[in-house]
Amino acid sequence: MVRASIGTLTVLGLRDIRMDAAPTTAYLMIGGQCSSDCVYCGQGRNVAGDHSRLSRISWPEVDEDRLIVAFAAHPGAFQRVCFQTTASRGVFRQLLSLVPRIHQASGLPVSVSYRATRDEEAEQLLDAGVERIGIAIDCCSERLYPTIRGGTLADAKVLVKSLSEKHPGRVTTHLIIGLGENELEAAELMLEMRHAGVLVSLFAFTPIQGTQMEHANPPPLLAYRKLQFLLGLLDWGNEERFCVACDDTNCIRSFGLSEVQMRSLLNRHFLFVTHGCPGCNRPFYTEAPGGTMFNFPRIRAETAQGEIDQFIQDLKTDGFEFAERHNSEGRCSFAGGMLRCVGGEKNQNARTDGG
Ligand code: SF4
Repeated sequence: MVRASIGTLTVLGLRDIRMDAAPTTAYLMIGGQCSSDCVYCGQGRNVAGDHSRLSRISWPEVDEDRLIVAFAAHPGAFQRVCFQTTASRGVFRQLLSLVPRIHQASGLPVSVSYRATRDEEAEQLLDAGVERIGIAIDCCSERLYPTIRGGTLADAKVLVKSLSEKHPGRVTTHLIIGLGENELEAAELMLEMRHAGVLVSLFAFTPIQGTQMEHANPPPLLAYRKLQFLLGLLDWGNEERFCVACDDTNCIRSFGLSEVQMRSLLNRHFLFVTHGCPGCNRPFYTEAPGGTMFNFPRIRAETAQGEIDQFIQDLKTDGFEFAERHNSEGRCSFAGGMLRCVGGEKNQNARTDGG
């Protein structure tokens, strides 16, 4: 069984819906009923009712051969193909057969979200034409991981980091913000992944009907924006020196940058667009058209400045500290509850647990 996101099918001419933004990556999904039971996921084995949704998106089934023909007939329609998979029998074999066909028909780089637990599996996927392998960590909190996702965050990190060590520059992970983690936990995990060479893609939690978290709320936008900003600092970190300072409620209170420095980074790189593998924009995965836009699928000059101004204003209202915090050696000198500094010769950590 192959499914494709409704937007993907529309770009390929196989469906016809009105779209506010077209996907720049073709999103496919393979696998049957998932054997995992992540409490937030619409594919979990105990989810009641409809399994055709992942995040907010519907994924109709499509005939494999029809899909191949459609890709060949629409050169240049996408920048990438991404396979999402469920933990179910036969998925790995199906990937090995389908990836080369799609890669050949489309001529596009391929990402695969698949929990490769043995390196031979990763090797086989890369040999089959996969450019990037994604292993979703999703939950940023060690406290919550066993109940929300099963297993431990520590084991998930080992898996992702060891894969990245063996295949540098080819590993992506997904983190979902809004599963009950605090900002410090999310920031620490983002820093750890980044230092391991793993590309981090952020998702905002979105409640799915039939799941145990169907009545939970999406994350506060300001918390999400701060983490997007941190991701931007990590991407463009050579240009800025910064720190991540948290208060005693584990909220980020400063990046050790002035308002001018923060605006400067945001004006050069609009950090609120979807962050992921090159070409991935995931339109409306986690937001309703007209609702809160956690990830923008594209940059629109006419709205970007307003979003930046709103972010800065919300930070001020929240009591965020904008002071530049560097001492003469270029290190962040924020004193209260500093998580760590990035930039300069070395990372510095007030709790001396290394960067
Ligand atoms: S970042 Fe985008 S393209 Fe990459 S694995 Fe995630 S959804 Fe797919």
